[in-house]
Amino acid sequence: MYQVSDNISKRFANLVALPQVQQALAFVEHDQERCIAQQCELVQIEAPTGQEGKRAAAFVDMLRACGIRDAKIDPAGNVVAIRHGKGNGPKVLVEGHLDTVFPLGSVHGVEKRDGFLCAPGIGDDTRALAMLLSLLRAMDAAGIETCGDIYFVGTTREEGMGSLGGMKDFLTEHTDIDVSISVDNHNMAGIVYQATIGETWEISFSGVGGHAFTDFGKIAQPLHAAARAVAKIADITVPSTPRTSFCVSNFHGGNDAGIHAIASEATIKINFRSDGEAEFAAVKKAIFEAIDAACAEETARWGKNTVVCSKHMVGSIPGGTQDCHAPLVEAAWLGLQYLGVEPELAASGCTNANVAIAKGIPAICIGRAYAPDDAAKITYTHSLDERYPVEGAYKAVQQTLLILLMAAGMDTVEPIVR
Ligand SMILES: [Zn+2]
Repeated sequence: MYQVSDNISKRFANLVALPQVQQALAFVEHDQERCIAQQCELVQIEAPTGQEGKRAAAFVDMLRACGIRDAKIDPAGNVVAIRHGKGNGPKVLVEGHLDTVFPLGSVHGVEKRDGFLCAPGIGDDTRALAMLLSLLRAMDAAGIETCGDIYFVGTTREEGMGSLGGMKDFLTEHTDIDVSISVDNHNMAGIVYQATIGETWEISFSGVGGHAFTDFGKIAQPLHAAARAVAKIADITVPSTPRTSFCVSNFHGGNDAGIHAIASEATIKINFRSDGEAEFAAVKKAIFEAIDAACAEETARWGKNTVVCSKHMVGSIPGGTQDCHAPLVEAAWLGLQYLGVEPELAASGCTNANVAIAKGIPAICIGRAYAPDDAAKITYTHSLDERYPVEGAYKAVQQTLLILLMAAGMDTVEPIVR
């Protein structure tokens, strides 16, 4: 049974006893229609990773309309709006990512069907952007003044090859952020507080190459070396706890013009991840040893020339662990219970929270949807059929508000500090 500490319980009780907080929570519920409308507006401004400019410009305008006059786009393309506090508290970041995994031309309006909004990217993570706007309106309407400054940020390059790039740039630029809240989960019931570490590498095997018949036996074959490496990697064993994975996701060598040639080069791409730092180091070592051994074996098989390999990292997701009783996690737990949602500790993830957690900043990733039944839990995220459940969606905004205020502190509520 998960037990929240007395300290955090007391602070939470103080928070929800404040009339401004009750007023802000009520505002959020009544703001649902406007929030959904902005979600639908933003999703139609397409923003594939690396092409977030148009959506960023629209989002800046919306933030300005919410009273943050100096909202801006920073050199990394991130949208940054600061809501100043009294100046005696921590700096709190709350963010959603601007980019989606869909190429331009994928979104053709928003369809409303069976209680869902349907459009590619409607949830992930367009919903989070709309939530930030609703939060700002609610805090202003209720006259909420926090101790610390709150940074409302739309980040770029979270997805795919972006590898959390916008968040990395933001936290490099803002080394004084004390607490980080990412809104990038579907179901608000899940509290993600650990960060899976991951890397993606491209490995090239190269040699001289030659004729498939006349050069056979005279030279080592790079493509065969690559295949040996994949076979060895396929046999690596990893623990199930902490969850650790590896996947050769791409294998390429040769071409149709050279079907009777010993290809001079072959490449593989491999992704590996772990929730544990030691386990991550171990799987990485095993993979690299397998690759080196494969080159050596293929070379030794023919003894005539050498297959060499070059290793090049193409993506890196930092990670780390946090205590499940970190104040932020406990605050999220209490928030959910208060809103009548059964909390779940969803231990790990690969989101922008990883970047903060890896830097030792208290951070969590929380959900953007209210999903009380099985149907509402199914979202088809990252597919063209992506959908978002509308009923009760405001509850996810309320939850974000409660965590945000616990983190930034106000009146009788001591803030969470680093
Ligand atoms: Zn996302």
